[in-house]
Amino acid sequence: TRAILVLGAGQAGFQVAASLRDFGYRGCVTLVGDEPHWPYRRPPLSKGYLEGSDSAGTLALRLGANQESLELVMRLGKKGLAIDRSSNIVTLDSGERIGYDHLVIAMGATPRALRVPGVHLEGVLSLRTVEHAEALRNLFREPGDMVVIGGGFIGMEVAAVAAKAGQRVTVVEAEDRVMSRVVAPEISGYVASEHAAHGVSIMTGRCAVAFHGRSGRVSAVELDDGVRLPARIVLVGVGVSPNIALAEEAALTVDNGIVVDGSLLTSDERISAIGDCSSFPSVHARRRVRLESVQNAVDQAKYVAGRLTGMMGEVYQGTPCFWTRQYSTSIQIAGIGDGNDERWVSGDPASGKFSIFRFNGGTLSCVESVNSSADHAAVRKLFSGGMPLPTPRELTDAQFLPKLSLE
Ligand code: FAD
Repeated sequence: TRAILVLGAGQAGFQVAASLRDFGYRGCVTLVGDEPHWPYRRPPLSKGYLEGSDSAGTLALRLGANQESLELVMRLGKKGLAIDRSSNIVTLDSGERIGYDHLVIAMGATPRALRVPGVHLEGVLSLRTVEHAEALRNLFREPGDMVVIGGGFIGMEVAAVAAKAGQRVTVVEAEDRVMSRVVAPEISGYVASEHAAHGVSIMTGRCAVAFHGRSGRVSAVELDDGVRLPARIVLVGVGVSPNIALAEEAALTVDNGIVVDGSLLTSDERISAIGDCSSFPSVHARRRVRLESVQNAVDQAKYVAGRLTGMMGEVYQGTPCFWTRQYSTSIQIAGIGDGNDERWVSGDPASGKFSIFRFNGGTLSCVESVNSSADHAAVRKLFSGGMPLPTPRELTDAQFLPKLSLE
């Protein structure tokens, strides 16, 4: 048996260890993570946990039954400092040196910082860890003005929780609509109206240029048009950068993520890279992508565990899926859309229950569903079935889309 070292004990790293056990792997598995906690799920950090409806216990990732059958060594609160590829050894900040036959890099990503004056003022936060969520939750105890910089998934989820908690929230988004990178305009419009109904103000086409403060605490956000928004709390949610420094220093190929092939192997065949830090050739998108979702982390981890136990040979072909929840609206996405997609609407957006079907070159590429989990489940099945993907006409003929209307 071989020694497997997993660097990063988040969603993907933990899943590799859990799946190795499920697949009957008997060798030594070491999981190294720099956070001082048992591995946990991040999605509740901007939803139930931030709201106070989920407790810390519900965040923990769990191994199933029989976990003793896997020799799992946990090194938590320890950071990997260097990968020596000539001797297959990773050095930790504790001075420990751990050898490997195979290394799985699952180091995730770090929130991008804004390069503007005042980012270090107290009250300016980002959200990636349980500590960040706790800091934010504490600030919500007192009502006041909050500015969210960035109208992506995380920014909009936090805006929803903050508004419900009594904060006066303004979202500042540089593009002309919220969540523009990930969803179609119809979904952005629907989400924006939900937020407006809860008193959240959304300013699009605007950027923050400075944070101002008093006695070290933030008090206002200055925008590029000179407007100053009062702020007791600022959440910066402008995306993440993949954690690639260690891979780069070890001379692995990197390019917006650690570059892997269709089997999720890096330029060194003894090293795999998965989850938020990995750039892989997506069978679904027919291009190289780096995805940030639980589905991607979990499916890639299962694939690598399967490959290492000889149970999976062909290329990785997980179906990309994403979700977000804001107020009582649940949005699920299957597939990856493209700005040039043709879009069809199924259902009535005014009813709060509809899906956007997107087609690329006449083929279904992505479906975004608002409160329509049946559409999402059906399309997910279609994508993972390995069948040729349908055209709009075929979907209508199959009565998959009973009420389809052309954009
Ligand atoms: P992570 O879970 O970030 O794990 C990486 C781990 O590696 C971290 O613990 C990190 O500290 C550690 N690490 C980094 N460098 C080192 C080192 N040198 N040595 C040791 N350890 C190291 N996805 C969804 O699909 N749906 C959602 O609703 C959703 N909501 C989210 C809400 C929030 C607030 C956040 C932050 C993310 C959300 N995501 C969601 C994204 C999802 O959580 C990530 O895609 C997923 O966690 C990626 O898993 P990962 O293992 O690649 O990275």
